[in-house]
Amino acid sequence: MDRATRMSEAVRIDPKTGHKLFATRAAKATDKIAGKGYSIIEDEALKTLPPPPRGAVFNAEEQAKYRKFKEARAGAAHYIRLEGEFATYLEDVYSEAPVPRDALDDECEVLVIGAGFGALLLWYRLMKAGFTDVRFCEKGGDVGGTWYWNRYPGIACDVESYSYLPLLEEMGHVPSMKFASGFEILEYCQSMAERFGFYEHCLFHTTVEATVWDDAARRWTVKTDRGDAIRARFVVLANGILTTPRLAKIEGMETFKGKAFHTSRWNYNVDLEGKRVGIIGTGATAVQVVPEIAKVVKALYVFQRTPSSIDVRDQRATTEEEYATWPHERDWAVKRRERLALISAGRTALQGNDDFLSGKVEAYKQQKVYERELTPKEMIDAQLNSNFRVMEQIRARVDSVVKSPKTASALKPYYPYGCKRPTFHDEFLPTFNLPHVHLVDTAPTGVKLINERGIVHDGVEYPLDVLIYATGFEWMGTGSFNMIQGRGGRTLREKWETEGTKTFLGMHSAGFPNLFIMNGPQGGGGQFNFTRVAEMHAHYIVWALQTVTARGATTIDVTREAEDEYAQHCAEMDVLSAPLRDCLSYYNGDGTAKPGSLAYYGGGQRWHDRREAAQKSMSPYRLE
Ligand code: NDP
Repeated sequence: MDRATRMSEAVRIDPKTGHKLFATRAAKATDKIAGKGYSIIEDEALKTLPPPPRGAVFNAEEQAKYRKFKEARAGAAHYIRLEGEFATYLEDVYSEAPVPRDALDDECEVLVIGAGFGALLLWYRLMKAGFTDVRFCEKGGDVGGTWYWNRYPGIACDVESYSYLPLLEEMGHVPSMKFASGFEILEYCQSMAERFGFYEHCLFHTTVEATVWDDAARRWTVKTDRGDAIRARFVVLANGILTTPRLAKIEGMETFKGKAFHTSRWNYNVDLEGKRVGIIGTGATAVQVVPEIAKVVKALYVFQRTPSSIDVRDQRATTEEEYATWPHERDWAVKRRERLALISAGRTALQGNDDFLSGKVEAYKQQKVYERELTPKEMIDAQLNSNFRVMEQIRARVDSVVKSPKTASALKPYYPYGCKRPTFHDEFLPTFNLPHVHLVDTAPTGVKLINERGIVHDGVEYPLDVLIYATGFEWMGTGSFNMIQGRGGRTLREKWETEGTKTFLGMHSAGFPNLFIMNGPQGGGGQFNFTRVAEMHAHYIVWALQTVTARGATTIDVTREAEDEYAQHCAEMDVLSAPLRDCLSYYNGDGTAKPGSLAYYGGGQRWHDRREAAQKSMSPYRLE
């Protein structure tokens, strides 16, 4: 199809509503982009944690060991954004060139930034509530968000897919595996988008660059890198919590002559077969990547600064027989997700006991009964003790699987369970028994030097053909807050930098009327499963829009008092639970984040209690 035809087909008018409809979804760049997630492992020994040692308690000696482990790494985390000479690392390698279209200069009721789970869920709820003048702007060439960008070999979800994939009953779908591969999840997103008419509402390959509130017009003006100027009554940020990739800042990194890329832009044009490959980082991404690429490369060097906790995975296919035993109840997936949210233990994904989750039994385990009510400090201590026992099992698993004592010792984490993002895999540890796979322990400083041939550590040069950065993302999407300018011309980032992060429920910030943040800082309501958070936030946004409409108002904002009180609450909850997260991780900005400024630590139900109270009293809101 020639450019002129594609251009004319990219935007058309819906004869029924008069709204614009789009055809901007980009084609897949190459068929080489394909893969699978977790394999099913038959060896029972690999999918069982050894028992905890008898009498294991988190005593002063163990606490000192944890403290030393943390202190040794303090100040070691240095990252850079993918800008300047590294901007090419951000290119969309998954889609063909953007579909050509004219710049838009028009209006819509709701403009949503993002096309991942949050946006897809929100579209479904808005559409059902009768809001159809909705437009989505998405940087990538297709839907999926996280699952669009992250397509590395081995990718899979870590929350059981029956509770993780949204709208399963509406789609009439059951995932093929307990932990579906990222490729299956992406296809599922595409099916949702097709089924619910999402594609026609989305401008792909369109990055929002400025979102400015016009108080006189009571509209946001949204400007994009495609030259669009779109006025919208409401704007929703649904652009994710781990969206902006980051690279470790390492001397000489720009001189490397081999191929290099970040895991969230996996370059499938680089054939790894028979190559010497280095991977920097051992977080949740690397734990999934390493076992997969070890199957094809000639030599693999894993550069680790801090070991992850590698829990068991126990992957399973969804069988007809198993499915048949589940109670066939209405809204089965929503109910299952709600049951999963009741399990507040750190090892949620794993302890998601199927009998409980599928509704066959009412309790997932006997609750421990104490003789008297514990103080918050006693509760934290009890949790630290049980976390310690789990970590002892995780460390014992390393010893039982990894043959080299030196490698095993380096792979053992010393911090409270869940302090860094827990990972799950049954193939990662055995990979280090393969003769061509080498763990390079770079603790506590991490990799500090790269030259044109590869990585140099402790005076040893590791020549590489390919260097993979598994160095993560900015947490809580802070990347986009600097382009949102509210009342008085101040950006959200400026406000938070001067006053500290301030929101109400994580969804509004005073002075930014008609703006909603999904899955952002201080946003709660879902515990470990971010799909539940997105689901709750989507319901909330629909409620807010309906409330504004029903009351004949044009704007909804929150009072300063309400957000001050909420920010204080977030800080208190963070401080209270901080001993459970006493290590360095992106959760706490590697030790630099102010209490309460990032994730919400009040627990799912407390957030809902606050939400319900606000919706009942309406006192936190300013409707004009
Ligand atoms: P992370 O931020 O968790 O990991 C980055 C890694 O890079 C860390 O191991 C870090 O070490 C290491 N690192 C940074 N700089 C250096 C250096 N100079 N030398 C050596 N190592 C270095 O990123 P991920 O992409 O792994 O994961 C991000 C998040 O994405 C996950 O926590 C998870 O929430 C999500 N995710 C979810 C998945 C799922 O659901 N299945 C799969 C993958 C990711 P250190 O720990 O010392 O800082």
